Amino acid sequence: MRRLRTQLSLFILLTLLVTIGLIGVFSNWFINWEFEKYITKTEQRRSENIVTDLGKQYDGFKRDWQLGYVHMIGMYSLYDGYILKVYDADGNTIWDAWNHDMALCGQIMEEISARMEKMGTVGGFVEHTYDIDQNGKKIGSVSVKYYGPYFLSDEDFTFIKALNTVLLIIGILSSVFSVLVGCLLARRISRPVTKTAYIAKQISEGNYDIRFERGTKIRELNDLVTAINHLASALSEQEKLRKRLTTDVAHELRTPLTAVSSHLEAMIDGLWEVTPERLQSCYDEIGRLGTLVADLERLAKIEGENLKLNKSRLDLLDIVHTVSNNMNAEINKKNLSFAIEGNSSFVQADKDRMNQVVTNLLSNAVKYTPEGGSIQIEVTGTNKTGIIKVRDNGIGIPESEHSLIFERFYRTDKSRNRKTGGAGIGLTIVKSIVAAHGGTVSVESNAEQGSCFTVSIPKGEEE
Ligand code: ADP
Repeated sequence: MRRLRTQLSLFILLTLLVTIGLIGVFSNWFINWEFEKYITKTEQRRSENIVTDLGKQYDGFKRDWQLGYVHMIGMYSLYDGYILKVYDADGNTIWDAWNHDMALCGQIMEEISARMEKMGTVGGFVEHTYDIDQNGKKIGSVSVKYYGPYFLSDEDFTFIKALNTVLLIIGILSSVFSVLVGCLLARRISRPVTKTAYIAKQISEGNYDIRFERGTKIRELNDLVTAINHLASALSEQEKLRKRLTTDVAHELRTPLTAVSSHLEAMIDGLWEVTPERLQSCYDEIGRLGTLVADLERLAKIEGENLKLNKSRLDLLDIVHTVSNNMNAEINKKNLSFAIEGNSSFVQADKDRMNQVVTNLLSNAVKYTPEGGSIQIEVTGTNKTGIIKVRDNGIGIPESEHSLIFERFYRTDKSRNRKTGGAGIGLTIVKSIVAAHGGTVSVESNAEQGSCFTVSIPKGEEE
């Protein structure tokens, strides 16, 4: 298979060379054609001038030719390639170039023939006879012999040679230039493609940190480069997440497992007396493991199902009431003051999932609010969205951690130290469900000042 750069170079080169070749051939042909026309016309005019000039050399009164001038005209013409024979009215020869200088005539004819052969013109010497008139009366005739259909003088020949040389030089220079341009252009186009292909290969081999830095000026290629870079970061992000998930899961499982196994070991070895409290503690740890696995399962289900929602028209206020009834015992246990405010707000949503959202938010509020604190849930709405706000005056969340708490397994330092904390999956589930509904979830909070979580769900089409 050929390389893109070679293919492009060849293509561009071929196009440019063919163009230059065609321009060269056509301009050469056109110039020669025009020049021939010009020369042919000049020759015709020259013959006419010879006849006119000769006509002036006849003295009508004396009935005599001024032979000196006739000779001069004949010689000038000879040097220019016209071999003349001048006759008087009776057909007697007055002046003949051949008679005058046969050698010179032969030499000139040879020179012209050789020159025209060099030019590649096929022709030969032709002879035309013209009548010489004076005041409408024939006073003689002249036979003009020259190389036909046209011939070039020495100067004409030099001129056309120079012109062709210039054309040839232009052709060669353009060809060299086209080779350079072709290679450069091909390099320019193929470079980002080659580099992108290399990067894509690197990515496929798992090297996600590689990036294409220098942007090109070609929009499509730039888009390609940007897309590949995005792909690399997305894959790198996924890979990091996958690794972190495994480590986090292992870590989360290890803590309760170690606790349970060390407690049980101590009891089996007889180091610890088996008491209901110790068994209860083991049971609690196992319960925590169960919750973690259940959370993970729930998350996997939500993320795996990919937006498969069983939507119906439901009132967010109803959901809030149901969830808080279910959690009444926990709320009362911590002696929290609890209030539900607001009005009905109907949205198109998946009931079970929305229950899950409110449950997670409310259970967090309960978990992270000290005894005697207060929790409020407010349901409002706009034309387009239904809104639930869960507000507490608990331990709060430092602003720097607001974006992190929605990540899997993320727990703030404070909650990590507490026994109450879960595995850090609750808010991830909330975010996934809300996002699947096309909504948003946000938090306003400061450390020690309580938190307020706001969920907005688009109302969607009424059924
Ligand atoms: P967890 O199971 O640990 O509660 P979440 O994903 O529900 O996990 O919450 C992640 C972290 O966000 C919690 O560990 C806690 O640090 C913080 N957080 C969540 N809700 C609140 C809240 N109402 N008050 C204070 N911190 C909270």
